[in-house]
Amino acid sequence: MTAAPVTAAAPTTAPDCLFCRIVAGEIPATVVRRGRRTLAFRDGAPQAPTHVLVVPTTHQPDAARMAVADPALLAEVIADAVAVAEQEGLAPSGYRLLTNTGRDAGQTVFHLHMHVLGGEPLGGMTGGPIKAAG
Ligand code: AMP
Repeated sequence: MTAAPVTAAAPTTAPDCLFCRIVAGEIPATVVRRGRRTLAFRDGAPQAPTHVLVVPTTHQPDAARMAVADPALLAEVIADAVAVAEQEGLAPSGYRLLTNTGRDAGQTVFHLHMHVLGGEPLGGMTGGPIKAAG
């Protein structure tokens, strides 16, 4: 089966989007960093000692749409996620940046967000144990 084509068409804000509402200040969040076109705030259900979300201030549902609509902004989100990791003191021991895309990945909020996770050994990439190569 062929996947649906990814198009650039998307609004800059979506009225019912949780993260658009956090960006607009309508829903409270613990903000840790404001970038030129991004906002970083603590995840409400942290999965690690440090768990921050970095979102673009304009709406795109996921990384696939963002890569088409504004790849420079996707790069900005990643760069700001690295800045958050450094600000949070995660750089010496390491950290994980991840973005879920779609159902199988478990995406629940359809406004692109980069998770910044760290503060303890994080285990395998898919939630299970780390698998050895080869
Ligand atoms: P994902 O499952 O990748 O779409 O991630 C969505 C993330 O948003 C989850 O880690 C949630 O804990 C987090 N989240 C949902 N609502 C809020 C909120 N109001 N404030 C902060 N984080 C939230």
